[in-house]
Amino acid sequence: MTEPLPTQAHAAVRVKGWCPGALRPMAASDGLVVRVRPHAGRLSGEQAQGLAALALRYARPQLELTNRANLQLRGVHAAQHPALLDGLRALGVLDADSEAEARRNVQVQPLWTDGDPTPALARELSDRLVRGDAPRLPAKFGFAVDTGPHPCLRDAPADVRLERHGDAVLVWADGAVHGRVVPLDEATSAALALARWFLASGAVTQGRGRMADALRHRALPEDWRVVPVPDVAAGTPALGPHAAGQLVGFAFGLVQADTLAALGRRGALRLSPWRCLLLETAGPVPALPDLITAPGDARLRVAACTGAPDCEQAAQAQGSPRALALALAPWAPLLPEGLGLHVSGCPKGCAHPREATTVVTTANGLDLIWRGKADSLPDHRGLDRHALMQLLQQQERPHAAPL
Ligand code: SF4
Repeated sequence: MTEPLPTQAHAAVRVKGWCPGALRPMAASDGLVVRVRPHAGRLSGEQAQGLAALALRYARPQLELTNRANLQLRGVHAAQHPALLDGLRALGVLDADSEAEARRNVQVQPLWTDGDPTPALARELSDRLVRGDAPRLPAKFGFAVDTGPHPCLRDAPADVRLERHGDAVLVWADGAVHGRVVPLDEATSAALALARWFLASGAVTQGRGRMADALRHRALPEDWRVVPVPDVAAGTPALGPHAAGQLVGFAFGLVQADTLAALGRRGALRLSPWRCLLLETAGPVPALPDLITAPGDARLRVAACTGAPDCEQAAQAQGSPRALALALAPWAPLLPEGLGLHVSGCPKGCAHPREATTVVTTANGLDLIWRGKADSLPDHRGLDRHALMQLLQQQERPHAAPL
């Protein structure tokens, strides 16, 4: 089912009420989009190499890291989809059916270390979400298992969050300022109880609903308002070495299949909502053209969606949002610290559903929003590239948003 997304400033955009998966792919003008949800956010080296081989055989030779920590193949011909599924099944990255795939909506903090409860909690929660007695949640409703050394998924989309609290777990609803602390072995039960409360509260309309929206109109029960949610500085962990491994980045989250295979030969990988990969194995990282290892790389400060010509929603006349974003990237280091620039092919804002300095391509030119999402009211409309670049170079402008 589709329905228009209300926007303040632009014509309505058609959005789908479900997220694509591998078993239920999405049709795009360049073929099927097949989204793989690695279990517990991790791929073994063999799985990474196998996915790379499948991309080379059945899809475009470039995979996409999504902001929900999934891996996406594009350009799959419908006739080859069954063979691709066979390959994914053999790699152990396919769910039993499309319903299970849709329900297993769990983001996992990638910086967990040995002895950390995170991977076990993520597996337990995923297993419980696909059981027959699991709550029937809206497709985009998700969980963040953020029980590593420090929470780092606060910016990642999720409705129920689990964070470490000493030896226990703080479970809280996205949009709330308090939660409940439970022992480790009760954490997934508590997370599911919170999801059941959400369903029972009547917050789902036509199969859609998010926790933070629900809490604007209804209060959580008292026993979910016990322990304050600590303030945590949001932001993306820096590229480079971490206790769990080495974090490496990719412009727009695009990974060449050959690069994925090369990284897989080094060992296991973890996915992240920051379109980065964590390499578990220590040692030098191979010099590969699409691999970003320097934290200051300007390409990390721009986000852009697929857009034209592959996405039918995009304003085709303005060309590729990614090409424009790369053209604008040299300006990024000149911008104030924390500035993020997002180029979107339409007001849906797939690549960065948060505030940034946002450029939206339209049939009438480029719209600029100094601080906002892609569907916010533009500060400037119908610019050409030259005018846009001049504005971006201006020294005096409103504060922009972190990416
Ligand atoms: S934001 Fe980009 S990828 Fe998403 S629907 Fe619009 S044009 Fe397509």
